[in-house]
Amino acid sequence: MSKSAAAAATPTQPTAVGRLIVFTGPSGVGKGTLLRQLLARHPELHLSVSATTRNPRPGEVNGQHYFFVSRPEFEQMVADQQLLEWAEFAGNCYGTPRGPVEAQVQAGQWVVLEIELEGARQVRNFFPEALRIFILPPSLGELENRIRQRGQDPEAAISRRLDRATAEIAAADEFDVQIVNDDLDQALAELEAALF
Ligand code: ADP
Ligand code: 5GP
Repeated sequence: MSKSAAAAATPTQPTAVGRLIVFTGPSGVGKGTLLRQLLARHPELHLSVSATTRNPRPGEVNGQHYFFVSRPEFEQMVADQQLLEWAEFAGNCYGTPRGPVEAQVQAGQWVVLEIELEGARQVRNFFPEALRIFILPPSLGELENRIRQRGQDPEAAISRRLDRATAEIAAADEFDVQIVNDDLDQALAELEAALF
C-alpha cells in the first residue's frame, strides 16, 4: 500500500458497529453459570464488570466479579455520570461503568451486561437496538432450591431475592428472547442460537 493510501485508510475507516447484549433473570436462575460457559466458548464476547455496594461473596475478586465500592463511592459515580445505568436491588446498589462499555461497542466488540430488570429497562430507553435476553427458572420452587444450593447469601438476602423474583418473571415478555434454564446444555444451545 502506498504511503498516501495508508494515511488515508487509517483515520477514515468506518468504525465497526459493536453489539450490546443484555442478560436478565431472577437471582439464582443460573445467569452466571450460563455466562461462564458462553464466554469460555466465545472469547469474542466481553462481560461488563459492574460496580456494587454489596459485600463480596466468598471467592469473589474485586475488579473481576464486581468493583466493590462503598455507598458514598457509588453515589459519587452516579453524580459524575460514570454509570450507564444503575438500580437498587435487595438493599444494595448495582451499576454498569459507562467508559469501558462505550469504548468496546465503538470498537466493534460484543459486550454483555448481566443486570436486573430496572437496569435492563433503562438500557432499552437509551440503546433500543440492544438484544435483551431473559432467563427463566423451570419453577419458583427450583429457583429457591438453586439460591439455597449456592449457599452464599444470608437468609434475609435470600427472601429479598425471592420477593423480587416474581415481579421480574412477570416482566419476561418485555424481552426479545426468553430462555428457560432447566437443562443447562439446552439453555446454552438456545442462548447460542439467539446470539449467533
Ligand atoms: P445467578 O447468576 O442467576 O444468580 P448462578 O449462576 O449463581 O445464578 O446459579 C445459582 C445456582 O444454580 C448455582 O448453584 C448453579 O450451579 C445452579 N444452576 C445453574 N444452572 C442450573 C441448571 N440448569 N440446573 C441446575 N442447577 C443450576
Ligand atoms: P448478585 O448480588 O446476585 O450478584 O446480583 C443481584 C442482581 O443484580 C442480579 O440480578 C444481577 O443481574 C444484578 N446486577 C449486577 N450488576 C448489575 C448492574 O450493573 N446493574 C444492574 N441494574 N443490575 C446489576
